[in-house]
Amino acid sequence: MSDMKDYMVRGTAANDELRVFACTSAELVEKARSIHDTTPVVTAALGRLLSAATMMGSMMKGEKDVLTLNLNGDGPVGAVCVTANSKGDVKGFVNNPYVDIPLKPNGKLDVSGAVGKGFLNVIRDTGMKEPYNSSTELVSGEVGDDLSYYFAVSEQTPSSVGVGVLVDVDRTVLCAGGFIVQVMPDASEETISGLEKNISKLSSVTDMLRKGLTPEEVLQVVLEGFDVQIMEKRPIFFDCDCNREKVERAIISVGSKELQSMIDEGKPVETECRFCRKKYVFEIDDLKKML
Ligand SMILES: [Zn+2]
Repeated sequence: MSDMKDYMVRGTAANDELRVFACTSAELVEKARSIHDTTPVVTAALGRLLSAATMMGSMMKGEKDVLTLNLNGDGPVGAVCVTANSKGDVKGFVNNPYVDIPLKPNGKLDVSGAVGKGFLNVIRDTGMKEPYNSSTELVSGEVGDDLSYYFAVSEQTPSSVGVGVLVDVDRTVLCAGGFIVQVMPDASEETISGLEKNISKLSSVTDMLRKGLTPEEVLQVVLEGFDVQIMEKRPIFFDCDCNREKVERAIISVGSKELQSMIDEGKPVETECRFCRKKYVFEIDDLKKML
């Protein structure tokens, strides 16, 4: 096992014909679990999406770029929403953290049962007037497959996405992480068929993580027979950038009429950040100043 806690690596393989990413994210998924008090199946759904988002965040170039992944299924968990920046910070929440559904017949957490059928919404805000916004159908609700489908359909980049979370009997996170391998347009038939062969015989991500494989070692397995070059290694965190000023601006944005009616009610306004559940209280005097 590696000494560095959560981190991701980014690199290339097969003479730049493949772009590769991998991460270990147990600590940040555990933080998400403890903040949102999620049941194991929800921990898995949210943790898989958080892990993927840390890798996808690193695909963005700009310092201020923000990626949002939203699983909008009709299952009991409701929406699973995650955002990431390009620096390795990620945060997320779910509509219903308390979903308790039976395991699958194979003994695995039923993530697709919790998520249901619906859409994956991907928004990339790179400071342009209109953020990039894409919606693709969920193919399985297992997160990895849904992201692979998104990359193929929306970004025309065939990709293999494997993300996994293993939850302990005490409901804490034992291991989490994943990989993304993307096929570049100039990839040869040989590279593509070699990758397909590797993927077809791959054990699950959680199996690899449970054995203690580092992200670098996961990539060695996924890309067996290929020459892998790691270009970057960086720590990743569950980190929320909310603050009182931002919440204030959000309250002001509801308009002066709404603000006046809050003041008229005569009670302090309490709001909670959806991502980190931090509470912000605004007294009547605060509201009057904002008005
Ligand atoms: Zn927050």
